[in-house]
Amino acid sequence: MSLIEVLNPATGEILGEIVDFGPLGVDEAVATAREAFLDRRWQGKTPGEREAILWKVADLIERDREDLALLETLETGKTLKESRSGDVSGAADAFRYYAGIVRRLGGRTIPVDGQFQVSTRREPIGVVAAIVPWNYPLCIAAWKLAPALACGNCVVLKPSELTPYTAMRLGQLLEEAGVPEGVVQIVTGFGNTTGDALARHMDVDKLTFTGSTKTGRRLLIASAESNLKPLSLELGGKSANIVFADADLKAAVRGALWGVFSNQGQICTAGSRLLVESSIHDEFLEWLLRRVRALRVGDPRAEAIDLGSLASETQMNRVLEYIDIAKAEGATLLCGGQRHGNEGCFVQPTVFSGVTSNMRIAQEEIFGPVLAVIRFDTEEQALQIANSTDYGLAAGVWTSNARRAERLVSRLRAGTVWVNAYNEFDSACPFGGVKQSGFGRDLGEEAVEQFTTLKSIWNAH
Ligand code: NDP
Repeated sequence: MSLIEVLNPATGEILGEIVDFGPLGVDEAVATAREAFLDRRWQGKTPGEREAILWKVADLIERDREDLALLETLETGKTLKESRSGDVSGAADAFRYYAGIVRRLGGRTIPVDGQFQVSTRREPIGVVAAIVPWNYPLCIAAWKLAPALACGNCVVLKPSELTPYTAMRLGQLLEEAGVPEGVVQIVTGFGNTTGDALARHMDVDKLTFTGSTKTGRRLLIASAESNLKPLSLELGGKSANIVFADADLKAAVRGALWGVFSNQGQICTAGSRLLVESSIHDEFLEWLLRRVRALRVGDPRAEAIDLGSLASETQMNRVLEYIDIAKAEGATLLCGGQRHGNEGCFVQPTVFSGVTSNMRIAQEEIFGPVLAVIRFDTEEQALQIANSTDYGLAAGVWTSNARRAERLVSRLRAGTVWVNAYNEFDSACPFGGVKQSGFGRDLGEEAVEQFTTLKSIWNAH
């Protein structure tokens, strides 16, 4: 097994080395998880026992809150504030929410013709593979692990090779809380070695993934070429945040700002296309730019910092390349547009105006602190622009007109629509996309469908 260096992207410092498990390591992990599933060491616990253990995981995450947040900041470059609120709190909440689901996993009885008593029951799928990205490593790992475990599965989790440490730490907390050994396996390594081996494994019953659309496509092929394992894919986005002239503009400025610059723009729901009604366009941008220019970029461990480092040099270069593409396509650079400093992977918060729907920065996911502002004149035009990408993850609508909001909610092709809000999440609310943003839902009761199979039972009287 080869070794991979893990870097702190804010400093370039080496944090440590991890193993690239590869196909042989994956075989072993899947076999261990299968054995744990077959001997029912987890599934066989009473619902009350499983609930208590998952609840304890949340308590332990909170006990280690500061350590986990620092670790997350070191491996991702994100601010400590973001690690605490986005990752650690999100992870603890997911375990609490799914602890509460364990005792509600019922089936139903079905009236049928004939002398039968017919019922259904939800059963665990078996061995679940979870492949998670580097933008919210701890939180997204929890979004997969908590419901998968609540439903009685065993899990093989592959974090990104860029950000493996909080997931590994979570693995230890699961054991400390009482999840039996073998039930959760953490395999580290590259996507195209370890990830691919998991996706093609004949003894993995289900694959749940968050990441790019490009990789999602490859995973579908891997499933088709192996055992047809069902997939849930939470993929990219190019979400529209639409501001009408009748909105509370102060709130909309804040929503536009944090809609795209949270986590340095490395968030799949980033409101990376800001659609502004023509009559307020210039005034709105002036307010927004004042806020953007005041953002503090720098050491992610410093409490006063708003934007930390991007997660890797590759990602920084990718974002800078998109900035060049935007300039070449004729968009107007209003602020930012460059790397921040000479060390680490920092990019200035960047705003382009004069963007049109056909430009690449209006169509492709950049995954960085780059906002594309598009002007519109009518509600119909705003809708048409908002729906004009291959993605359909999220959208935001800012208006004081309730009827208008209702019309947009029903016609926007997106898995989530926020009205007079942006980037709000809760473990109880399902999350996922339409179109090329993927299918299946994380979170909420709906995630139970991802992690269970439904058995129908016919009982002759
Ligand atoms: P990927 O989709 O490639 O990475 C996400 C996860 O998938 C990682 O764990 C990765 O492993 C793994 N992976 C990669 N290739 C394979 C494969 N062939 N088989 C199985 N698993 C695989 O994203 P990138 O890191 O390449 O980022 C590129 C772009 O993707 C970003 O710029 C952004 O636009 C988008 N993205 C979107 C995310 C979202 O939440 N919607 C999250 C992350 C990225 P490893 O990293 O170890 O190679």
